[in-house]
Formats: sequence, C-alpha cells, structure tokens
Amino acid sequence: MLALAGIPLGYRFVFVDPSPRAPAAATGEQLVCGYTDPVGLDALAACHVVTYEFESVPVEAAEALASRVPVFPPPFALKVAQDRLAEKSCFRSLGIGTAPFEAVDSLADLSRAVEALGLPAVLKTRRLGYDGKGQFVLKRAEDVERAWDAVGGAPSILEGFVRFERELSLIAVRGRDGQTEFYPLVENHHQHGILRKTLAPAPALTPELQAVAEGFATSILEHLGYVGVLAIELFQTGDALLVNEIAPRVHNSGHYSIEGSRTSQFENHLRAILGLPLGDASALSPSCMLNLVGSLPNSADVIAIPDAHLHLYGKAPRPGRKVGHITVRGVDAAELAARVSALEAVPGVRDPG
Ligand code: AMP
Repeated sequence: MLALAGIPLGYRFVFVDPSPRAPAAATGEQLVCGYTDPVGLDALAACHVVTYEFESVPVEAAEALASRVPVFPPPFALKVAQDRLAEKSCFRSLGIGTAPFEAVDSLADLSRAVEALGLPAVLKTRRLGYDGKGQFVLKRAEDVERAWDAVGGAPSILEGFVRFERELSLIAVRGRDGQTEFYPLVENHHQHGILRKTLAPAPALTPELQAVAEGFATSILEHLGYVGVLAIELFQTGDALLVNEIAPRVHNSGHYSIEGSRTSQFENHLRAILGLPLGDASALSPSCMLNLVGSLPNSADVIAIPDAHLHLYGKAPRPGRKVGHITVRGVDAAELAARVSALEAVPGVRDPG
C-alpha cells in the first residue's frame, strides 16, 4: 500500500521480506531474504531512503542501515516500541496517562505486582506480542502460576485492567522538518485480539478529545525525534484518554485513509520520510474499514455496495490471518451504517470464528 501510494509520485520500490510470496512483490523488486542478510541490507543501502512497516524488524538491522542511508522512522523509535516496558516508561516520563504497570521478570515479581496493582490485571510479554498474543488476563490470585506459564516465563509487564468505554487510535505524521499532521481519532473494534472494524472519524468525537490525543502525540513525536507515520492506540473512559501502545509505522486503523481522507497515511508517510510537504489529513466523509480475517468474500458482492472499496492482499486465507480489507463511505452516519450492515451480511466478510 506504501508502494501503491508512491508509484504515482514517481518513486520505485525495493522490498526485503523473507516470505517468497510477499504481497509487496507485485509493486516492486523483492529480495527474498532475512532482515539482517547482507545481500538485502546492501540493496536497501543503495536506495534513497529506507523505511519499515513491520515492527518486528530487528533494531540492529535498522541501526546498521542508518549509518549508510536515511532510515525513518528512527531506529530509536523501533527500539522503544518493541519493548513494552520501555514504551510504557516513556509515556510515564512524558506525563502521558497509561495503565498502571509493573515490570515482571519472575514468578515472585508477578505475585508482588498482583498485590501492587490488584486484579483483574493483564500480563503481557515485553517483546513480540501483537494482536493479543503473548497476553494473559489474571482474574483470581490462583491465576498467577498459570499466567506465568502462559507467557513462557518471558520478561513481561503486568498492567492494571482498564475498564475502558472504547478503543481509539490516532494516526500522526511528522516530516523531516518537524511539520506535523494529525488524522481524526478513529474508533476500533477487536475480536479475539484482532482489529475487525474501524470507524473514522470516531463517532461523537469532540475537539477537546482530539486535542488531548494530539497533545500526547506531539510529546511522543518530539521525544523520539520521529519522522513518518506513528500510530497511537488509546483507551477512552469518559473524557479521559490512556495511551496503550504505539506502532512506529503505517497502521491497520489508518487503512481507511486511502479513500476516507484527503491524503492517505501511506502517501503522508512517504512525503514525511522523503522530506516533502505533508498533505491534509482531514476526513472526506464518515467511513468504515472492515478487515477480512481468515476468509475471502465474493468480490462482486462487496463492490456492488455503493462506495465500497475492496483491497485484497494476495494472501491465502488461514484462520486469524488478515487477507484484505474493505473501506466504505457514506454521506452521513446513517448511510454509512446501512452500507456497513449490507457488507457484514456478505458471506466471508465476518470472521467465521
Ligand atoms: P495490546 O497487545 O496491548 O494492543 O492489547 C490487545 C488488546 O487487549 C487491546 O486492544 C485491548 O482490547 C486489550 N487490553 C490490552 N491492555 C489492556 C488493559 N490494561 N486493560 C484492559 N484491556 C486491555
């Protein structure tokens, strides 16, 4: 999707991906190799600029490249985002609200953390957790050992359970000259820990809530010396926002922006890392993004619905795998809701699980 936004601007793309069937290969030259393979690194170092859209890229690879070619977002941002303890400590040091948390390196730490935070609480591995993986919700004191087993005794953090009203995210973008643009807050719905639906802008979004989120984003962007698109995931309770986590990349909750915004997150990410002026991030109309998870609908049934736009990634369906998404727009909330209902009735749009 980055390449699809960049080709009309006159750019060509080289990708490194260990999977021989990477969807990106349809839009540029792919090197099928690991992220630290010198062949791949040399090919990237010959580019004008390097970016990543997968946050488990090894920090060492990004750092090694950064001495040879501009790499954005900065590897420091990747390092912070890969470690939940560093990430949450960063929010705390910037005075940004986040769930109460404790570092957990042993079963004894976990028992102490449960006493400090109370129950329920969520145990999350510090590294390599996404889409709800590497997590365990503790409800009773007897859950301590089971939780520690569930995360495989890996270095973790325990977070107090937040009784949020809804989950939101903010897509922010910062250019090489420090210019920033913010997309409107969007409302996210998950199923089995996987994003299923994004409503953009978030229903009943107030300027006050948007301003709070943008204030958090500004502090984080400046602290990280950030360049590119940054996604910030938040919990809302009443008028308050807590930051859950950041993703240093274009984000699934910003996919709607291809049709829903004046400038998509993909184009703005490229503009930012290339040192170009940023584009207007405002919404064109209310829109909704539905992820296709584990199954593919009949394309004709999807695009028969007015103003519905289908994006297939060329991936074979497997349970829990994101294989595409649909964005649909409406002139107002009522028209949008009717179109979303029509789409959700198409077989294969809703997760069979
Ligand atoms: P994460 O991997 O941190 O994005 O968490 C995955 C999902 O688990 C989030 O989207 C929330 O729905 C839920 N979750 C994560 N942390 C908490 C928390 N501290 N309290 C309540 N729910 C949480």
